[in-house]
Amino acid sequence: MTIPVMIPWLGEEEAEAAAEAVRSGWVAQGPRVAAFEQAFAEHLGVPHAVAVSSCTTALHLALIGAGVGPADEVVVPSFSFIATANAATYVGAVPVFADVDAADGNLTAATVEPLLTERTRAVVAVDQGGSPVDLAALRALADPRGITVVEDAACAAGSTYRGAPAGRDAVLAAYSFHPRKLLTTGEGGMVTCQDAAVAVRLRRLREHGMSVSAADRHASAGGAAMLETYDEIGFNHRMTDIQAAIGLVQLRKLPAMVERRRILAERYRILLAPLIAAGARLVADPPHGTTNYQSCWLLLPDGFPIPRGDLLGKLAAAGISARRGIMAAHLEAPYAGSARVPLPVTEHLTRNSLILPLHHFLTEQQQDQVAVALLGAAG
Ligand SMILES: *Cc1c(COP(=O)(O)O)cnc(C)c1O
Repeated sequence: MTIPVMIPWLGEEEAEAAAEAVRSGWVAQGPRVAAFEQAFAEHLGVPHAVAVSSCTTALHLALIGAGVGPADEVVVPSFSFIATANAATYVGAVPVFADVDAADGNLTAATVEPLLTERTRAVVAVDQGGSPVDLAALRALADPRGITVVEDAACAAGSTYRGAPAGRDAVLAAYSFHPRKLLTTGEGGMVTCQDAAVAVRLRRLREHGMSVSAADRHASAGGAAMLETYDEIGFNHRMTDIQAAIGLVQLRKLPAMVERRRILAERYRILLAPLIAAGARLVADPPHGTTNYQSCWLLLPDGFPIPRGDLLGKLAAAGISARRGIMAAHLEAPYAGSARVPLPVTEHLTRNSLILPLHHFLTEQQQDQVAVALLGAAG
């Protein structure tokens, strides 16, 4: 039996919640989406949360909310899932790749500052793998210049920053509920924001730019007579009530999910101590927060006896489904050659790291197997 790198923690409660939505006859964006938005906003401590179909669409709307448009520049880490850079491209802007911190894989003021120009409208700060970015340091740089820092908190539900949920202090933040993340709705995402007018606009944009949502028309007595208008070009970025019903259950489980993952990650740290002593680095909490270990990545030491690809092959042969480390967008075809500065840390991390199996159902015995295979490969 293969040890999977990640499986969601779904069960009977989610199945029942989804079935209840189906039995109710209302499965489009409706009351469960509204309830999920409210619960998520309360969990974070933010005034507004707008549920959407994915984090990719959340980032798309967040950049529009930040006023980013054609010919603007958006500073992003290359060291991220490609959707971070793609969102800038969707709004006609140019993603400008900055390097990252060697310890946590996140942007820093030092890597971002040299890339700021007259055209920079936004910085997308990723909480890579769930490790919170130092948002205050980036805002201290960006805010006085009128540049908006959007937080790509795709991985960060359940992480903390300076004692608060990650993303709470962002002007706009985007979350993912894809099954590779902790909290899942199958597909889904959320944009959070501080400004009421921005929230109203993003709600309209996710639903074709409609002035009155279909759910509101349905809910009101005079609904049939309400005429909606379409004041700007919107999108279909909606979440369904089936997804939101699952999300409400998942949100209640989030603290237990994080707790379990943090225990297992610390256990990896003990099991892999010989490799760590030899220079390998297992991702850890940064000084300014805590990670949910959405991605438990290991940086191989210099001089590791076999290439990373061969190591992944060996692990697969031993029934262990590890993954290559986090990707680098500037090494993929759409963005090849576009980096304005060298990105040595990004390239080192992406080539020499791997993501270890970590999920709610991982047993200690399976973890031992992973450690034995890794230490064996290290010679
Ligand atoms: C997963 C991920 C996304 C995309 O999320 P989807 O919900 O799959 O669209 C964006 N950014 C980062 C950093 C991610 O890890």
